[in-house]
Amino acid sequence: MHKRAFLEGFLTASAVAFGGQYMWRRINRAPLALAPIINPNPSMASSTPLARADAVADPAQPTPPRAETGFEFAPIEVEKTIPQQGIPKPAPSADIKHGFNITGLNDTEVASYLRKIRNFDAIFASDIYLDRSYESLLLQTTQHLTRVEAYMGHGNFNLMSFDEMLQAGRNFPAIGRFTPEELNFLEEVFFANPHRYGFFGEKISADITDRIPRKDVAKIPRSGHFLLRGESLNLYNQIRKDVGDEVILTSGVRSNVKQMHLFLAKTIEAKGNLSRASRSLAPPGHSYHGIGDFDIGKVGFGERNFTVDFSTTSEYRKIAGLGYVDIRYPTDNLFGVRFEPWHIKLG
Ligand SMILES: [Zn+2]
Repeated sequence: MHKRAFLEGFLTASAVAFGGQYMWRRINRAPLALAPIINPNPSMASSTPLARADAVADPAQPTPPRAETGFEFAPIEVEKTIPQQGIPKPAPSADIKHGFNITGLNDTEVASYLRKIRNFDAIFASDIYLDRSYESLLLQTTQHLTRVEAYMGHGNFNLMSFDEMLQAGRNFPAIGRFTPEELNFLEEVFFANPHRYGFFGEKISADITDRIPRKDVAKIPRSGHFLLRGESLNLYNQIRKDVGDEVILTSGVRSNVKQMHLFLAKTIEAKGNLSRASRSLAPPGHSYHGIGDFDIGKVGFGERNFTVDFSTTSEYRKIAGLGYVDIRYPTDNLFGVRFEPWHIKLG
């Protein structure tokens, strides 16, 4: 089904209502004086919330009024502040294949940009938030996708197309039909330009309904994940041959629906902060997992496989020494993304 074809059945007022409306905003319009906020300990991010008023004790930096704070779950985990001079603008001539044209930025903007991706899980005053009006829709839609994944299975969900998602909603009462508002929201997120919130990666999938043909993928035993046959599968097998069975696939090919669910969940985790979310997860349609990139880890290393700790393992060092393996997001890359030593680049 082509984009928007699915909307034809219910072109309601709500389908139009979102048109032209900004999805995002800065959280604090006036108080840029309110210093940028950083949490030096990302692992504490969601477990030890401090009230903003407690954390920003300086009365010269008033807490913005509620209405100014945008998203309902505004940034609250604050440990200390560092200076920061605003979001770098992508140059008009941004080369989307290679991030953006960093030569168009001045030194201050470059420093600001690098500070953001090096402190990817921190909160910066210039971060862009999903507009508060989308909060309940964000939660509702994400929960709906969670039901699809739980009901259809994690493995299948990795490959699920948008049309299959709609079908699952229609066919299974335990999932339930997607509402026009949810579908509009998914479209809005998919077609939004993420340069606006600081992600500069390439658009990989033009259409939300793009699908991954089942015949093109191979299931990787005991992983719950799939790889594209050919170059991608061969690269994975070669790495394991050269490094050993301790290397495992932690995420393979991912459909737009899967990436959407991950991104929305990450946005909730980031309390509506799209900039923060996209520093560690590509927005839907922008993930190279859709065209063959994959993530590897080490058996028994658990969640640390998705942290910088992975780069300290002997497996990683062996992989880095192979010569034929590249990682997609090296340190200080131009995509607006954190360092991801586990993410293997195809081609
Ligand atoms: Zn990855």
